[in-house]
Parts: sequence; structure tokens; C-alpha cells
Amino acid sequence: MTFFYRQKSQPKDSVVSASLPQEKHPLASSQEELAVIMENVPMAILLIDEQRRVRKANKMAAKFSSFSSATITEHRAGEVLQCASSFNDSGGCGFGPFCQNCSIKKTIGETFVKGTNFKRVEAKLLVMHHGRREELTLLISTSLVNISGERLSLVFIEDITDRKLAESKLEHLASFPRENPSPVLELDSEGEIILYNKATVDILQKIGVKEDASLFLPDDIVQIVGALKQTTENRFFNREVKIKDRIFALSINLIEYLHVIRIYAIDITERKIKEKELVKLNHTHKAISDSTMAITRATDEMQYLNEVCRIITEDCGHAMVWIGFKEADEAKSVRPVACVGFEDGYLETLNITWADSPRGQGPTGMAIRSGQPCTCRNMQTDPKFEPWRAEAIKRGYMSSMVIPLKAENEVIGCISIYSREVDSFSEDETKLLTKLAEDVSYGITALRLKLASQQAEAEKNNFIAIMSHELRNPLTPILAGSQLVLSQLEKLSPDSSSVATSLLGPVRVIEQQAKNMANLLDDLLDITRISRGKIILKKEIINLSDCLKNAIEATQSVMELQKHKVTVSLPNTPIYLRADPLRIEQIVINLLNNSAKYTQSQGRISLEARRNGDNAEIIVRDNGIGIESEKMNSIFDLFSGSDNAFVTTLGELGIGLKLVKDLVSMHHGSIEPKSEGANKGSEFIVNLPAMPESYRPEPVEKIEEAAPVAKQRVLIIDDNRSITQLLSSAISYLGHETKIANDGPSAIILAREYLPQAVLVDIGLPGMNGFEIAHELRKIEADSGCKMRLIAVTGYGQDEDKKKTKDAGFDVHLVKPVGIEILEKTLGDTMS
Ligand code: ADP
Repeated sequence: MTFFYRQKSQPKDSVVSASLPQEKHPLASSQEELAVIMENVPMAILLIDEQRRVRKANKMAAKFSSFSSATITEHRAGEVLQCASSFNDSGGCGFGPFCQNCSIKKTIGETFVKGTNFKRVEAKLLVMHHGRREELTLLISTSLVNISGERLSLVFIEDITDRKLAESKLEHLASFPRENPSPVLELDSEGEIILYNKATVDILQKIGVKEDASLFLPDDIVQIVGALKQTTENRFFNREVKIKDRIFALSINLIEYLHVIRIYAIDITERKIKEKELVKLNHTHKAISDSTMAITRATDEMQYLNEVCRIITEDCGHAMVWIGFKEADEAKSVRPVACVGFEDGYLETLNITWADSPRGQGPTGMAIRSGQPCTCRNMQTDPKFEPWRAEAIKRGYMSSMVIPLKAENEVIGCISIYSREVDSFSEDETKLLTKLAEDVSYGITALRLKLASQQAEAEKNNFIAIMSHELRNPLTPILAGSQLVLSQLEKLSPDSSSVATSLLGPVRVIEQQAKNMANLLDDLLDITRISRGKIILKKEIINLSDCLKNAIEATQSVMELQKHKVTVSLPNTPIYLRADPLRIEQIVINLLNNSAKYTQSQGRISLEARRNGDNAEIIVRDNGIGIESEKMNSIFDLFSGSDNAFVTTLGELGIGLKLVKDLVSMHHGSIEPKSEGANKGSEFIVNLPAMPESYRPEPVEKIEEAAPVAKQRVLIIDDNRSITQLLSSAISYLGHETKIANDGPSAIILAREYLPQAVLVDIGLPGMNGFEIAHELRKIEADSGCKMRLIAVTGYGQDEDKKKTKDAGFDVHLVKPVGIEILEKTLGDTMS
């Protein structure tokens, strides 16, 4: 079928219809008919030659072109059907990149190449329409026609955009999940609801709210729609909406090809409740572990219980927590002892009892009586909460749980937890809170035991301190007396009265035992002080040999008494230590005393010191009774006293080695005992960190020797007459003049006229104590201008005691028992 014809005389491109003759030739009329048909068919028709020139086009063709129908034939097909946004003049099809796979070009090309007849293809074309880009769906059909021997392509272009849209809408309607059991909604590109399924309405009905599908839209739906239209990446959004008490998870998607936004809603209320419950349980778990930690930190019961209340409120998020103790009073009251979250005084107004009375029917009373947790799910409705309802509701509490606290299976109180939510305590949380309460019960018991043992320990230490002080008083006259007698006896010639010389041995024993007793009291006090962390080492750089010599000197009399042969081996090159010299001496003295004690008379004892790498090694050896292997492990334990018949007479307590070990470890050293068994002797090796071998101390300036002591006026003040008596004799023996006073007031009167140069003052005097006496003596000194040396003589010898006497104005602090040597040295110091 041909639409057009061309007169031979006419140029190839001219359109016949434009110049039809006026006369109605039959051919001319059919041409006119054809032209009318062409202009009125609802599609574009173009006739294109092999050079792609538009030879003929109807008016409709102009719809897809930027040229008018009058000028359209002056252009090539590419120009005519050019895409509004892109024209490819470098040989492209002219329909721009919007032609899918350039299907129009292909189709026209194929028409000529393959001579294909009537090929149809659907293509998309973007055109500008009233200044807006519009996408059209076109159905393009091409046919190869032969007009007057010329091959032409007849192109029909039909705009099927509306049909396509209608089809896809139908298709979409069919695909809309109407039967979905969960709500599905669709919105247009303006965010207006256009469609929703039956479940949307059903669920709203079930919830009991008005049937308004927009309840499913989140507050920011307008922004979401805007974002979905813009973005090419996030094609969906997730939101949650709450409708009454139900929670829905929304998935908001853009269905691009339909230009709609679809919302799927799922009821996640149950899941949310479970999640919340899980979070809550996690928090309760945290509260359990935090309260366990609190036990380890706690020192005070009330502070611990308040900490537990704080942990429960903070970790579990409950409104208020209080802990009450069950009282054994007549009213069977519950005494609040700790609380967090309550306003002051509120608890006291509750007037809670655990008696089986009307007021005892609340959760607290029931929990304490039954020993089981008791819950009030809703304070507004629970009849057992009636007496407290008004006040509780006023403060916003809604439910509560009370868990009993037990000690040795007996209820001692309870933890009471208040929540702002109704029915806040699930079964699982109740179990966990019960576990927490068990831990708290344990915590209370442990803390009470700890406090009781600390109290017992403090009482014991106090007892030891008082006892050792009291025992020192009788030791002073014993020591001073025995030393006085000894010094007189030692002056006698060996052939003088046999009675006098026979006394020498026993008096030496008395003196030695008094010293031993004093040492024992010192050790006992030191042990208690070390256990309380009260001993502070006064470390300095010392020459180990100096300490060892002092220790040998201090134990000389006991060695002589036992007739032991002592050998000492000190290093040729000095070993320097950073240590407390008095404590190092104390360690060695204790070891030497033990050797003397646990070795039969006339034994062999040695003290050796040597360098061992970075350490100094001190070895005390004896050939005494030895240590049996089974005893070896316990000798450093406190009160591991000897059960050996040979030594029990000497009153062993098992304190010395424990103290030695503590002092050695305080110096970061070690001690090792060795013995081959009973009667095979013993060896104690002490290792202490030493200064490097290369260390040399700074040279010390030599101190001038003190001038010989002159006779002094000495006043002795003590309420113990034996002490004043013996001290007076000892001091007179040293060549000084003495006067005695047995109480403070008489001492002050005496001092005013006697004007002593040295005053020995007992501190623990009844009435006026030593500190007050010192104060008065200093006044006398100021009035008279006569200098006085104030010497405190006391049973208390710790640093804090020395500080006290110093602060009160004393020059010297002597610890009882005071022997002659000490008096001689002190009074000598007085002169210098
Ligand atoms: P004490 O000597 O007062 O019993 P220690 O703590 O000094 O207390 O000693 C603990 C125990 O170690 C002694 O009872 C004794 O059995 C044993 N021991 C200590 N030193 C020696 C030693 N040199 N020889 C034998 N046994 C010793």
C-alpha cells in the first residue's frame, strides 16, 4: 500500500500534496483523501529516504520534534526527531541517548538493510513539553516501501505513554498485597495516602482507635517522602510508630516504577516488651555484680546498705529503694536503716510493722513474716496496699517488691523496691532481685563478722599495750636494783666473803631475766603494731658491721651467763644497706638470743656476715638443740612456742621469729632456717638487699668527745615507791645527788626550792600527770633561770608516745625498765 506518489517532473523532495491541481482529477481527490487521512490519524507518520532525510511528515510528527509541520521536511530525520535534551550530530540516530539501545536508529537502518517489513519497537523518548522534561513511551513501526522505484522507510510513531501507565497501574493494583495480615499503605509522591489494605483497618479497630490510616504515618513522613524522591541510594526508611499501647515497626520504600511509596507496618509490641525485659534483666545482673563489689569495699554496714540502695535505683532504674531491719520491740516495727530516692522523713511516716495486724498486711510485713518476696503489682488497686496508697500514688509510685534479708536462715529485715511502672517486676527479675538480696544478706553477715573481729583485734592490741606498759613498772626496780647490786658485787675482790661472791651469779640471772622480759614486751608490742601497719621503718644508709657489733654487745651478758663461745666474722669490705639500723639490730639480737636460749650451756654460737651478689647475708649458727623437720614450717608462726622441756622454763612464747620475719620482709629481704634435726644445731640465714659494692658513703665529721660528767641535782618523780627508791640508789651510785617526790603537787613544791638540773618524771601519775608537771617545771625554770633537763620515764615507747612527751616539753624519753647504763648515759648527756 502506498500513501504518496511523486510526479516525475517535480524535484525528488517536493511533497505532492502541497501542490495538487485545482481540478478534481480522480487521482487528485484520492491524494487529498490520503492527505486528510494522514493528518488525522492519531500517530506521527514520516517518510524517510535512505539518506535519512524526511521526505514527508504529518502534523502529528511535529509533536515529537522541535520543528513545525511546515518546515519539518527541510530536515534530516535526526534533526526532526531529535531528543529534547541531546542531539548527536556526529552520525548518531538523532534521538539522543534516551532511545533505549538506539532502537529507532536500528529499526530504520534494518528496514533498509534487511528490507524488513513492518518492524515494531517500543522506545522511550524524553521530550521538552511546556519547558518540562517529559518521558514518552512510543510505539515505532517501520516499513520499507517502494515509491517510484525508490526505497523509502515509512515510519509510524504512536504515543502509548498513557496506555502504558494505565497498564502498569492495573498491574500494580493487582500486585498490591491486599490480603497481607499486617498493615500495608501506599502514598503518592506528595505523601498522600492512596491505598491501604484491610489489615490496616482491622488492626486500628482491634486497638480501639478511630479508623484513620494516617495513624500509621510517622511524624516526619513529609521529609521521608522528600528524601525518597531525591536519593538514589537509600530507597527505604525504618521508623516506629506507637498507636495507643501498640508499637509498629515501619518499612517505608519507594516503588520507583510506580512512583508510589509503600509502607509495611508490623506489630512489634511483644518483641519490644521482651527486649525491654531483657535490658531490665541485664541491668539487674549489673546491680548484682555491683553490689558484690560493694561488699569487698565496705567498711561500715550503713554505708554499705546505702550503697546497695543506690546501686538498685541507678542500675535497675527503679524509683526508690529502702532497707529496713526487723525490730524485736513490742510493736514489731521495721526500722528503716538505708534508703535512696525517698524524700526526707517519708519512710518514718509509713509506720510499718511485721506484726500480723492490719498494718502488717502490706508487702513488707508479709515478706518479713513469710520469708518470701512479696509484690504489689498495682498500688492503685491492690487491697493490701490500702494504708499507704494515697501517699505512694501522690509520689508517683505504681508497684513495689519486698525481698526478705536473712542471716543464718532467720529473717533480719528486707529490701523494699518501688517502681513508677505498674506491674514492673517480672518473674525473672524477681528471681534476680532475690539473688541480690541473698548477696546483701551475706554482705551484712560478713561485715558484722569482720567488724567483730576487728573490734576483738583492737581490744587484744589494746590489752597487749596496757599489759606491756603495766609489766614494765615492776621491771624498772628489778633491773635497776639488780644492776646496782651487781656493780657493788663486781667491785669486791674474788676472795672476799664467799656469801657475797656466791650472790653474783643469781643477781646476773635476775638482771638478764629483767632484760629478757623487757625485750619480750617490746617484741609483743611490735608484732601488734606491724599487723596494724603502724611500724614505719626509719631507713638510712648503714654499715652492716656496725649493727652487728651493737647486736653482739647487746647479747654479750646472756652469752656470758650461758658460758657460750661466740665467734664473729665480719666482712673486710663494709657492706652498706639502706635500712632501719635499730630494726636490723633487733633482727640479729633476736636470732642470737634464740641461739643462746636453744643451746646447752657452753655451746658454740657464730655470727657471720658476707656479701652475696646484690644482697648482704647474715648467718647465725649454733650447735644447740636444733629444729625437727616437722617443726620447721611453723617456727615463724605467732605463738609457736617451744614445747621442749629444756627451754620451757625460760618462758618461750613464739613471738621472736615472727617479728624477725616481719621485719626482714619489711626490708624486702628473706630468712631461711636450716637444721639437720634434733640436737644437730640450727642456722638462720637472713638475706637483705645491699647497696652496690661500688657504693662509698659521704665522710662524716668527727664529733668531739663529751666532757666528764659533773655531779648533778636530780629530782625523781614516780608514784611507785620501789621505782623511786631504786632509781635514787642507782643515780646516787653514779655520783649524783637525788631527791624523791611521789606525786605532782609535792614535786612542784620541792622543785621550786631544790632547783634540780635533771628531773625524771613518770607520765602516768594519778591526779597531776607527767605532762602537767613538765609544764609547771618549765615555769619554774623560766622564773629561776636555772636550766632543767626533763626526762620522761614511761612504759609507753612508741613513736606517737615519744612525740607526745616532746610536745609537752620533755628533752628525753626513756622507756621502762631503765637500767644503770641508760641512766649514766642520759645524765651524761644532760651535762653535755
Ligand atoms: P620463742 O623462742 O619465744 O619460743 P621464737 O619465735 O623466737 O619464739 O621461736 C619460735 C620457735 O622456733 C622456738 O619455740 C623454737 O622451737 C624454735 N627456734 C628458734 N630459734 C631456734 C634455735 N636457734 N634453735 C632451735 N630452735 C629454735
